[in-house]
Amino acid sequence: MACWLCVSSQLRSGTNMACSTARRLHFVLTQNRGAVKNPVSSDARRQTRLDLLMPTFYDPNTKPDPADWLVLDEQVRITQAATYHKKRGIRLPNKNAHATFHAIIENQIASNDAPVVRSMDRLKAQGLDRHDCIHAIAWVLSQHLFEQMKAEVPDGPEVVNSRYYAGVERLNAKDWLGLQSE
Ligand SMILES: [Zn+2]
Repeated sequence: MACWLCVSSQLRSGTNMACSTARRLHFVLTQNRGAVKNPVSSDARRQTRLDLLMPTFYDPNTKPDPADWLVLDEQVRITQAATYHKKRGIRLPNKNAHATFHAIIENQIASNDAPVVRSMDRLKAQGLDRHDCIHAIAWVLSQHLFEQMKAEVPDGPEVVNSRYYAGVERLNAKDWLGLQSE
């Protein structure tokens, strides 16, 4: 399973991350803080053009085969998610972070992470499409991530883990749609 929990320890220590997806998430979040001062480099523009040429097999409205998904390099998973949004012209405040959150939630589903799978099923039964279910769960993840980043004394992985799962289990379509209309 993608270890989103280690993001908080990475942010504190700056080293020793077990999970490269979480490491990339940290990178794109911190990189974005300087985005206004640092215009997109020509390398990044070139990469964006290359991404658009890449065949996109990822579609968040269709569950990827777990084995096929987990065998992919993590950067490919993130690029696939980013390219899906780019090709459809979906405007996002932070494209890289959005794609990384997609990859993390897909990793949890593909790894059969029970609370996340239950939440997906519940949200779909409540009327959300699969893509929006991923956004809703990623929203819970982001809230917990930012809480951890702000905490003076970070909680241990077990506490953070159970808090995340409790948030995921509480999530429902009505609350999520209410947040979207605010
Ligand atoms: Zn999305």
